Amino acid sequence: MAIWRCTVCGYVFDGAEAPDKCPKCGAPKEKFEEIAGEAAELIERSRHTNDLHMKLTTFLRKVEWVSESGIEDNLDPGCLAIFKKAKEQAAELRQMIKAELQTHMKKGKWG
Ligand SMILES: [Zn+2]
Repeated sequence: MAIWRCTVCGYVFDGAEAPDKCPKCGAPKEKFEEIAGEAAELIERSRHTNDLHMKLTTFLRKVEWVSESGIEDNLDPGCLAIFKKAKEQAAELRQMIKAELQTHMKKGKWG
């Protein structure tokens, strides 16, 4: 497996060979260059981090759902305060992750 990048539009492709045509901009196979060494490692690491962000987002959604049940249940002020805070902070973290991932996309950091 190798990583290939379209030199026209930056599209990244995984495969033994470059694709016949760029799926994004239609550039021919010759326009692809193989990415190796540090650049390839950086792409792998970026993908790993992206994956971690997605996992965290899933957990945070669960925290929000659980907190909502607690808020509905509303047993006493102490419990309510905890569930409200958990919900708020989980939502805030999810927003931070979303914003950070958008920054990465703009920089073209992701493969
Ligand atoms: Zn392209």
